[in-house]
Amino acid sequence: MRCPFCFAEDTRVIDSRLADEGDAVRRRRECLACHERFTTFEHAELRLPQIIKSDGRREPFAEAKLRAGLQRALQKRPVDAAQVDAVVAFVRRSLMASGEREILSRQIGEWVMEQLRGLDKVAYVRFASVYHSFQDLNAFREEMERLEDQEVTQVSSKS
Ligand SMILES: [Zn+2]
Repeated sequence: MRCPFCFAEDTRVIDSRLADEGDAVRRRRECLACHERFTTFEHAELRLPQIIKSDGRREPFAEAKLRAGLQRALQKRPVDAAQVDAVVAFVRRSLMASGEREILSRQIGEWVMEQLRGLDKVAYVRFASVYHSFQDLNAFREEMERLEDQEVTQVSSKS
């Protein structure tokens, strides 16, 4: 790290400790050229990307909204709360791991569908018909057919 006093590039860490209840690392550094000391803080980058909606507007990721959408799709389905939590956690983790500043809402829909597909087929189709921006009925029908083909393949591969 460059020295803020003389801009030399060689500085050394003389002390390092946790700060902000463990959410940050505070480092005391000394410049090898001018011997000035300064402090740096290291935080994990946890800001989630902004969501780009289909009309181009940006908004922050709303977990409550995602949950509401999931609950609608999972109404009267044999999926428990812990599994819903796991889907939400998966989306959150994917958002963080993306490292992007902005992400298409469609991408979130894809992640959710990827999870629902393995969890409950009915919920998957319900969610897909609402969230996935199926441009028209044909696109929806194609997705349904693809899903049915997959099931046929799975069944036949078992026999
Ligand atoms: Zn210096």
